[in-house]
Amino acid sequence: GPADLVTEVVILGAGPGGYTAAFRAADLGKKVVLIERYETLGGVCLNVGCIPSKALLHTAVIMEEVKTLGVMGVTYAAPEVDLDQMRAGKNQVVAKLTGGLAAMAKQRKVQVIQGSGRFESPNRIGVETKEGRVRIQFDQAIIACGSSSIKIPGFPHEDPRVMDSTDALALADVPERMLIVGGGIIGLEMASVYSALGSKIDVVEFKDQLMPGCDLDLVRCVEKIIKKRYDRIMLETKVASLSASAEGIKAVFEGKHPGESTYDKVLVAVGRLPNGKLINAEAAGVKVDQHGFIKVDQHMRTNVPNIFAIGDVVGGPMLAHKATHEAKVAAEVIAGLPALFDPLTIPSVAYTDPEVAWMGLTETKAKADGIPYEKGVFPWAASGRALGIHRDEGMTKLLFDPETKRILGAGIAGPNAGELIGEAVLALEMGADMEDIGLTIHPHPTLCETIGLAAEMAHGSITDLI
Ligand code: FAD
Repeated sequence: GPADLVTEVVILGAGPGGYTAAFRAADLGKKVVLIERYETLGGVCLNVGCIPSKALLHTAVIMEEVKTLGVMGVTYAAPEVDLDQMRAGKNQVVAKLTGGLAAMAKQRKVQVIQGSGRFESPNRIGVETKEGRVRIQFDQAIIACGSSSIKIPGFPHEDPRVMDSTDALALADVPERMLIVGGGIIGLEMASVYSALGSKIDVVEFKDQLMPGCDLDLVRCVEKIIKKRYDRIMLETKVASLSASAEGIKAVFEGKHPGESTYDKVLVAVGRLPNGKLINAEAAGVKVDQHGFIKVDQHMRTNVPNIFAIGDVVGGPMLAHKATHEAKVAAEVIAGLPALFDPLTIPSVAYTDPEVAWMGLTETKAKADGIPYEKGVFPWAASGRALGIHRDEGMTKLLFDPETKRILGAGIAGPNAGELIGEAVLALEMGADMEDIGLTIHPHPTLCETIGLAAEMAHGSITDLI
């Protein structure tokens, strides 16, 4: 039958990938329809990811930070937490942002259709809306359907005491004893929040280090702090089973820390899987691999010439800033501009307390692949600013090419590492070398100074710490 709606560009999913692509395509003069199954725009990132987690983490960090003021003669009574208000405060931040997106869509005349979309052909998509099925004909489509958290078969996921990150962010209560299954970024971020609120935390990680992928010296900076705050950090340990009873959720551990314990709540944060299998992509001829990933080229084009894909569903680091940059490329290619997704690096940040951020080459990868490098490390124990904020556990590390002296990678651990890494990313993209970074006058006393000093350490232009 005839289509209910005809458009130039249709975008499936309104997360950071989808809404960015929609706005960019509309700004470039395209007629755009944006399909989203949920009531609000913004996807995982704005609704149940980056933004609510950071609103809670900010609170958690301050709650921990005030405790360090004892040395300055300032002490506080134990905090009184109104969980309803905390939830409302977090939701307010989310609502402001998602409401802003709705206004921006309207302003650009992007038509938002609420409902679940499934491909019917390479030029047709059907959306199940509250009012019934809407059939949309399009010239080009951008798939931005994102990812979902992995569930482990056999775990009682249907029990409300077994949470995923969305449940944990909903902040139903503060459990007395909490188990975090998975010592990656999301698990450790949520551990920071619940620990500050008073939960006793156990973390269990299958691999031999927390935050797999990050250099161990950086991870140690976090470990030093959280070892004191959490009950147990169990590495090289597997949760063999989780079972629900009236007393709680019993976990049985296997590996380096065998045994069993019962918890009031368990957060399962063992990774995310793409949503590529849920959109009937085969009807459009789009290839989806066994995990649900959709392969694209550097123009973000799938194997079907008029269909593009971006964000978590195309693989690579599942990060919002990757999705938004890919989104602009897809929209620009559709508009006939010569765009390409070709970043030198995509930075990673764990917004734990302290934060850890890294970009470019890691030492772990350099060693594994036999890539030669020179290293400059500046320990924050030698930074006046770090001492002044009573946070000297951090470090700044830069890796350079031994021949060209250009920066290859950077890792920073300590408060605000996520803000600080931006300078290193720019240095890499601009091809800066040791001298460029070391001779750049950084303001004193700051934490960003440690980047200049790490470059000077590598260069040998300072030999003593100051
Ligand atoms: P998503 O944000 O997943 O959006 C996809 C959208 O598509 C969803 O709204 C979904 O409802 C919709 N959709 C899917 N299928 C259909 C369909 N068939 N019909 C209609 N709509 C559909 N990243 C960072 O960079 N920094 C962080 O600090 C950070 N923190 C995070 C914290 C948590 C707890 C989590 C879970 C993730 C975090 N991430 C973070 C990752 C980040 O959220 C994702 O990388 C990002 O949201 C991916 O964007 P996307 O546009 O690809 O997909």
